[in-house]
Amino acid sequence: RSRGHVWSRVRSIPGVVGQEVMSGAGQCVSAVLFLLSHWPVGLPSSASSQLLGEGEQRGYQALFTANEMVNLCEPTNPSSFPAARSLAQKFFSQRNGESQHTVHAMGHCHIDSAWLWPYEETIRKCARSWVTVIRLMEKNPHMVFTCSQAQQFDWVKSWYPGLFSQIQHYVKKGQFIPVGGTWVEMDGNLPSGESMVRQFLEGQRFFKQEFGNYCKEFWLPDTFGYSAQLPQLMQGSGITRFLTQKLSWNLVNTFPHNTFFWEGLDGSQVLTHFPPGNSYEMKGKVEDAVNTTTCGRSQGVSQYWLYFIDCNVFLIVSNPRVQMSSPDRLFSELEADSSLLCTWTGELFLELHNGTYTTQAQIKLGNRQCETLLHDVEVASSLALSTKLELGEGMTYGFSIYLTELFIVLHRHRTVTTWYFRPILNHSLAWYFRPFLSLVFQTIP
Ligand SMILES: [Zn+2]
Repeated sequence: RSRGHVWSRVRSIPGVVGQEVMSGAGQCVSAVLFLLSHWPVGLPSSASSQLLGEGEQRGYQALFTANEMVNLCEPTNPSSFPAARSLAQKFFSQRNGESQHTVHAMGHCHIDSAWLWPYEETIRKCARSWVTVIRLMEKNPHMVFTCSQAQQFDWVKSWYPGLFSQIQHYVKKGQFIPVGGTWVEMDGNLPSGESMVRQFLEGQRFFKQEFGNYCKEFWLPDTFGYSAQLPQLMQGSGITRFLTQKLSWNLVNTFPHNTFFWEGLDGSQVLTHFPPGNSYEMKGKVEDAVNTTTCGRSQGVSQYWLYFIDCNVFLIVSNPRVQMSSPDRLFSELEADSSLLCTWTGELFLELHNGTYTTQAQIKLGNRQCETLLHDVEVASSLALSTKLELGEGMTYGFSIYLTELFIVLHRHRTVTTWYFRPILNHSLAWYFRPFLSLVFQTIP
């Protein structure tokens, strides 16, 4: 497993990371020695062992090749040897650049809908960031930018309709790429299953209506853990791919995979990728560029955006090949090469941000009471409809009234879990406790 190359095609090796293919570490070591003994460039053994160290990409590829050779070789059957030798030949025949990773580069700006500023500032952040992206796209037709969260699109549509039209134009051209499929990048633990369903339902509905397509990938770079319900909910929403990075922030245990299948409670699986840059705050140094091409979280795209595609640094030998890409292209390539990926079953637990699910008890209480209440309203409304009772004038099917505001807006990450900014806390509390009960019950005949 290789770290440090974002969007790279990283595969876990059966036998090395836990599957039961390799029959023994000794065999693998022997195969590596075989590879080393055939190293064709005449390097001294100390140099070659240094170049093929376990932490080096080429060394990892040697280990991977050796492991596959072990799996192919049957010691008592010499006719199985040529296939293994052909793997070694393939490895040795690669010139320097041919063995390098390919970086799938795409712009992104992770904007917290609520954190250290009022909601209104979030709207302005979106507009500033995205108009900068549009200007870059006008100058360079290769520019690609991924953008999540239907709520933020909806804000810009209302406040900056001209900009929204330009965004729609570049969505059609395939450069401005809506991703995620949810209304906001919600918290991944606290909301009920029903709330998470509504995230996908309303989000996908918006993306289809405004941009013509459903999203194929769930995009949640910044939540404080991931419920085991999510793979099933993704599959039910037409989503088979998942991108995040937060689990790399674990305090104690390093998560073992960057690319893997995540399996939910019912056995649903989604292809999951953690960009090995392990953050969303790369500043664009060459060293960082090798790792990732995201830009700063919540700072707006203009501050940190660096556009790398014309930068000759990526032509330097031994650097990864860089291509402007898209989530669909990245995941399609991963899918075509996914037969050896490992599977992780159940919750993705984050060993960080401890306490965020127990502090601010008022918010947790209000959230849970509202979820319970809305469940009851849903049942009552369904009963009313099923018995053909007429809804009174001005009354609508109860559940839909609050789902946008309460279930899916307030479940944005950092709203239901943490508050660093008192006005946001007060605003959210008011939202939960404002006199909405009468409105909800108005819907019940
Ligand atoms: Zn965030």
